[in-house]
This record gives sequence, structure tokens and C-alpha cells, in this order.
Amino acid sequence: MSGTKCICVIYTGGTLGMVRSARGYIPAPDLGGLLRTRMPQLRAEGIPRYELVEINPPIDSANVTPEFWYDLAARVCALVPHYDGFVIVHGTDTLAYTASALSFLLAGAAKPVVLTGAQIPLVELRSDAHANLEAALIVAARAATSEVTVVFGRRLLRANRTIKTDSTALDAFDSPSFSPLADLGSYIQFHDVPKLPPVGPVEWLEPLAYRPSTIVVLPIFPGIHADMVKGVVDAGAQGLILECYGRGTAPDCNEALIHVLGEAIDGGVVAVAVSQCLDGHVALGTYAAGSALAECGVVSGFDLTREAAFAKMHTLFARELGSREIAEKMQQNLRGELTPDPEP
Ligand code: ASP
Repeated sequence: MSGTKCICVIYTGGTLGMVRSARGYIPAPDLGGLLRTRMPQLRAEGIPRYELVEINPPIDSANVTPEFWYDLAARVCALVPHYDGFVIVHGTDTLAYTASALSFLLAGAAKPVVLTGAQIPLVELRSDAHANLEAALIVAARAATSEVTVVFGRRLLRANRTIKTDSTALDAFDSPSFSPLADLGSYIQFHDVPKLPPVGPVEWLEPLAYRPSTIVVLPIFPGIHADMVKGVVDAGAQGLILECYGRGTAPDCNEALIHVLGEAIDGGVVAVAVSQCLDGHVALGTYAAGSALAECGVVSGFDLTREAAFAKMHTLFARELGSREIAEKMQQNLRGELTPDPEP
């Protein structure tokens, strides 16, 4: 029963707790004070008891770095024995990146971890903070959803399938290639979705320390020049998330570009193709313009989102795996983040 459960709410910043300034909205401390005055309904029956941890200073999530993910995961891991679930209040701009990263970093948490935020600050009229926070607390108290998820607007989404699709709408997030875990309507309707695969090596259940790595998201665009890619590689990129067209194509007539990519991969860079399309998946062999990528060593990210691909690769580098193993694991379904070979 949610009445006996206690949820830890971790406030990292974001619009939900922001206030106006002469330069636009800024994160504000003391979410606890705000919740007491603006959300008395959080003491209502049916809402689980919660305790608040505030990260100081709270940030606009535009300032999130990979190091922040590992710190946040370490905090959650340290608190896991004391709570039944977690709600993480986060800015929406990079919420999908943090949510994806936590899905890989908290594989061993075995408690629900729900990220949420708001498009309109709690202190403003018509704020969506109320509904989002209430729903996140209720979901976090349900043991059935013991994975990292996102509650936003009318949906509960798998963390590493989530993207921010709208900069203003209250249903700001979606998971185009994967069904929502639940619809949050007048009641919470859970859907039958593929379960998470078992965690690989047992040591992956342990908290993972931050290790810097240089991963670059590189969109393919008309006229992309080999020197641009070379510049990124020469600057020290260890991993490339290549945002390709459609089913995973790039200008294969640009021999210099394909050559630079091949050389980088031979030198140990891991390159993964994801699609610029919102929905669908990469299948590199569909077109010759995609086969050229596969032939030079680019691997398919299938239906990985950009955010999940970036965060997943970061955590694989943090595990100090070799580039071959990272390339292999990028194509495997580790935490529900991708559907390998949807068309075998
Ligand atoms: N810029 C804000 C942030 O990501 C946007 C939001 O929270 O909605 O922190």
C-alpha cells in the first residue's frame, strides 16, 4: 500500500522550481518551502509519504554534464536501502539524457526511479508541476514499475526510450519507437510491454564511477565534408553517435568522408548509426548508401534514440571496455533501450 511507503524526492532544478528574473527563469532553492505552500495536496491520502533531498545549487538542466549523472546515480544508490522508491525532479531540456544514463547506471537499484519536471513553474498559473509530481509519487510507490521511468503529462515512459518532442506542450515527452508503460488518464492504465532483459555481468549491478570520455553526436547533413569529421576525430573523439538519414544512410559518393570514418574506426573510435527520424529504425543494409557505413565499421543503433545512444556509450566507456566490445554492446539490448534487428 502506498500509505506505508516512503519515497525520496531528489530536486536537481529545472522549470518546476524556477522563478522569474530579469534574464528569464532561473532555478531557485528551497523546493521544500514551495511544496508546503503550493502543494498541500501532497499530504493527501493516497499520496505516499516523501522526504526531500535538494541538490545545491539547483540547475537549469542545460548545464547537466555526464559527471552529474554518475553523482546522481551514486546518491540514489546510497539511499536505496532507506526508501521504497525515488522521484527525481529535473529540467526537461536534458531529462531524456539523464533518464537514459540512469537506466544503465541504476540497473541494480531494484526500486522504482521516476524522473519528472514541468513546462510551467510551480509558482505560475496553470502549472503542470502539480499533476506531474503527484503522478510521479504515486508511480514511484508501485513496486510493479521497478525500473527507471519518466512521468510527464499523460504518460509513463521507459526512461531510455524517451525524448523531448515539444518545447511548450504539457505532453512534452514521448517514446516514438516504444509503447508508453502506462497512460495516466482518469486512472493509471499499465500496458503489457517487453520486460527488461536480465542484467549482464553481475558487477554491473554495482555503482559505476565517472570516467571522462569524449563522445560526439554528429549529424549527417547535405554537404558534410570529410574534414569536419576529421576535425572531430583529431580533437580526440573516442565515440561517434552518427545521426544518419532515414534507415541509416550517409553520402557514400563522398569517398573522403567514408575513408575518414573507416580510418577513425580502425584507430579505435566506436561509431554507431542512429536515425534522424523520430520513429523507425536503422537497417544499414537497406541502401548501398548505408552499406558503405557498415563496410567501414559503423555499427547499427537500430531504434536507439540519440540520448540513449550517447548515454549508453558513455557508461560503456566508463566500464573501461575495449572499442570492439563497446561496438558489440551498442547493438545489444541491455536495459530495454533498443529492439535489435526488428526485421531479421
Ligand atoms: N531549461 C529548463 C531546464 O531544462 C527547461 C525545463 O525544465 O522545462 O532546466
